[in-house]
Amino acid sequence: MKAQAVTLVGAGMAGSLLALLLAKRGFRVALYDRRPDPRFTHAERGRSINLALAARGINALASAGVMDEVRPLLIEMRGRSIHELSGETRLLAYGWKPNEVIYSVGRGALTRLLVEAAARSPNVTLNFGQTCLGASAAENRILFRDEETDESYDVSLTPTIGTDGAGSVLRASLAADGYLSVREEMLDHDYKELTLPPVNGRPALDVNALHVWPRGGFMLIALPNTDGSFTATLFLKRGKPSELENTFAALKTPEAVSTFFAREFPDAVPLIPNLLTEFFEHPQGQLGTVHAGPWHVGGKVLLLGDAAHAIVPFHGQGMNAAFEDCTTFDALLDRHDDWAQLFAELDRLRRPNAEAIAQMALENYVEMRDTVLDPRFQRYKALSVELERRFPERFIPRYSMVMFHPEISYADALRRGEFQAEILAALDEHATSTGSLDMELAQSLIEARLAPVSAAQN
Ligand SMILES: Cc1cc2nc3c(=O)[nH]c(=O)nc-3n(C[C@H](O)[C@H](O)[C@H](O)COP(=O)(O)OP(=O)(O)OC[C@H]3O[C@@H](n4cnc5c(N)ncnc54)[C@H](O)[C@@H]3O)c2cc1C
Repeated sequence: MKAQAVTLVGAGMAGSLLALLLAKRGFRVALYDRRPDPRFTHAERGRSINLALAARGINALASAGVMDEVRPLLIEMRGRSIHELSGETRLLAYGWKPNEVIYSVGRGALTRLLVEAAARSPNVTLNFGQTCLGASAAENRILFRDEETDESYDVSLTPTIGTDGAGSVLRASLAADGYLSVREEMLDHDYKELTLPPVNGRPALDVNALHVWPRGGFMLIALPNTDGSFTATLFLKRGKPSELENTFAALKTPEAVSTFFAREFPDAVPLIPNLLTEFFEHPQGQLGTVHAGPWHVGGKVLLLGDAAHAIVPFHGQGMNAAFEDCTTFDALLDRHDDWAQLFAELDRLRRPNAEAIAQMALENYVEMRDTVLDPRFQRYKALSVELERRFPERFIPRYSMVMFHPEISYADALRRGEFQAEILAALDEHATSTGSLDMELAQSLIEARLAPVSAAQN
């Protein structure tokens, strides 16, 4: 397949990274995106401003050869800083090893960097301001509109990779033609972004943490930016006009917004000076999970990233998973010289993992907004750390498997996490009744249920 031409639709996270990986292997890549060129424009409004980057994403950026350029954009986050209603804060470290940290990165800066890197490759042609209108697999054509001239044109479909994001037009057009089925599960919670600017030139909060104001049923979070500001995101039930308790539907007037924030996030209010203006100007984003399959039509077209498997953002893994799709794709190029086989194999390998991270992302919302306040959660967390210290090859907290262990697939993390939850419950119950932790019981349960990670991979 060397030196073949490949069409990529969507120059977001997955598309621009995949362009780099393909170009490195000598493919000629035509990358299309409906947006204007991000090298000359500001980031789109209404998308999250910053994202959490973890090991899976870092691996992918490293394999594309851009990690040295990305590093200056990153801010280390060592744990969740929990803001209680009383104003008290405490840091819950993500892991106990020094390298178990995640990073905040600006979406706009990262996209620009990837597009700039792609632009340096003679193998990549960038086509911005070009909107994909759909594809016809039967006619082997993909249709675009030039946003400047308003003219439509088509190009050969085979092979195309659709990385056009959660609202993928390509996915919709293939589904309309009966090539794949799609189920979109919208969350009944929306989000809104707000800004915490620096105070007297200094960051308003600890920059090396992901801040969470868990309020049970809803939450505010904030991630640091390199300019000393934080971007906060309120996640809250959308609500119907009749539902006026803790819903966006209830926040229709400045008074209602001020009262809600003063009641729920009193320590954050002084840090968001433009609360009312931003609240009413910024879009209210929707969230959901996309279950689609198959992800490909023979060897003609393949969907990757959010286009194939958009998930809710509560595990901070959507971009990381999209990047991991690209490294899996890249690795499969060593083993296949036929697009149909490669696309089918990628679908087989990645779809169960996409389903697993989709489920874990939904579960993490409940953890972040709710269970993090539960004393039992805190006992389990402390116990998990202890078990990982004693049985590092077998017991790794689920959050750590997802964020810090790319050698463990999402599907394995979900499966092992279920066993671990049962083990934690049994040990906690035993400790509560006897007053002490039984390490022999722990060892026997762990050895019976959890194979060593290195062995499990073989
Ligand atoms: C509020 C929020 C917070 C998030 N936080 C995190 C986080 O902390 N960590 C994390 O890993 N992930 C996070 N995510 C998820 C992450 O943003 C996505 O998973 C990631 O951007 C997916 O990459 P992608 O390339 O598949 O899609 P995108 O990055 O969305 O790129 C799609 C591209 O396709 C283009 N496009 C769309 N339609 C067309 C068309 N018809 N024609 C041509 N081009 C088109 C778009 O312009 C865009 O450039 C978050 C998401 C949200 C909504």
